[in-house]
Amino acid sequence: MEPIIIVGSGMAGYGLARELRKRRADLPITLITADDGAGYSKPMLSTALTQHQSAEQLQQNTAETLAAQLGVQIRTHTRVEAIDVEAHALRMGHEQITYGKLVLALGADPVNPGLAGDAAHTVMSVNDLNDYREFRHRLAGSQRITILGGGLIGCEFANDLALAGYEVQMVHPREWPLERLLPAMVAHELVQKMTERGVVWHMPRKAVAVWQAATGVQVELDNGERLQTDVVLSAIGLRPRTALAQSAGLSVGRGIQVDRQLHTSDADVCAIGDCAEVAGMVLPFVQPLLTQVRTLGAILAGEVVELSYPAMPVTIKTPIWPLVVAGAAVTAEQDWQIEQVEGGTRARLFDAGGQLQGFALAGAATKERTVLAKALPALLPLNNAP
Ligand SMILES: Cc1cc2nc3c(=O)[nH]c(=O)nc-3n(C[C@H](O)[C@H](O)[C@H](O)COP(=O)(O)OP(=O)(O)OC[C@H]3O[C@@H](n4cnc5c(N)ncnc54)[C@H](O)[C@@H]3O)c2cc1C
Repeated sequence: MEPIIIVGSGMAGYGLARELRKRRADLPITLITADDGAGYSKPMLSTALTQHQSAEQLQQNTAETLAAQLGVQIRTHTRVEAIDVEAHALRMGHEQITYGKLVLALGADPVNPGLAGDAAHTVMSVNDLNDYREFRHRLAGSQRITILGGGLIGCEFANDLALAGYEVQMVHPREWPLERLLPAMVAHELVQKMTERGVVWHMPRKAVAVWQAATGVQVELDNGERLQTDVVLSAIGLRPRTALAQSAGLSVGRGIQVDRQLHTSDADVCAIGDCAEVAGMVLPFVQPLLTQVRTLGAILAGEVVELSYPAMPVTIKTPIWPLVVAGAAVTAEQDWQIEQVEGGTRARLFDAGGQLQGFALAGAATKERTVLAKALPALLPLNNAP
């Protein structure tokens, strides 16, 4: 039997291997990864300082242990360079191997901030455990950190660094952080709470260059101001890894396009996780990924099922001002119903018919997440749902 080949050893790749093994002991599975295949939980990278976890402690398993546990073959430090969908073959260097079914779980790349300056090369992003190891190395002996981008990842790192005693500056190009997830008022509360913890905000501002300085570096902003800092962390966004699929002739939009069976435009190639655009949506979060993994595991084990998504709230890990968001993407015109509750804020978004379409909960109001999530419509209902 030709193996199922999974490319990628993140939560999606390992999650699928686990799901498949649970259902079928007989399937030959090979997992190929460009990195060392270490098992870790990526969301923990942005809370590890306050959890007193080093990069080494965050590593839960080696590839060898996981290969034995899951009964799969794992090839580490091996980059897939091309896919020949006609021949059902992958090329890695001079080697070619064939697959029965192929699953792309390639993740996403940090967006390059495109900065000028003689220290632009020192700007880093943290998108995996190896990046995090390097980040912690750079933090040793540093005190001043500048973060570019006030999205989910930037805000979480700012929170973690501020609580761990670092001097944090945030540079964000919009009027308020998390502008696609939060109404202005709730975002301003976060800014206020973080400011009280020493975070300095520069909004709406963009970094244009990074220069060497006598000590550390200087971040030049688009108004000419220069920020003195030791480490610059860029968190301006992620872009699904689509190049491999695109050069194989598979359909690609914002991500690798798949249907509700997780099939790409080739029936024997599937995609899951951060690289995938599933039924038109790119959702780079754990809960959709786990839902995809369960569905594809069932399909590859021979069941007839399709993907559906319930409403999936996302917790933003900013304990300085805890936040949970769900539902509709936020736009400036929306009319939020915002209420102060004891120790927190509840913001709800209703459509013209009075149906709840989204919410943002802050502080003590985050405990309402389960009740409110039940009132939201499914993000991707079953086709035959009433
Ligand atoms: C700091 C941080 C905090 C987060 N916090 C949360 C959170 O609190 N809640 C939440 O829901 N989500 C969170 N997320 C998002 C979540 O972690 C991701 O959605 C998820 O981990 C993505 O997993 P993945 O397997 O799709 O991709 P990845 O983990 O990026 O794995 C991709 C894999 O593909 C391999 N690869 C890529 N190209 C090739 C190739 N050509 N050949 C071979 N191998 C290749 C890579 O080496 C890697 O092993 C966070 C993300 C970050 C960065």
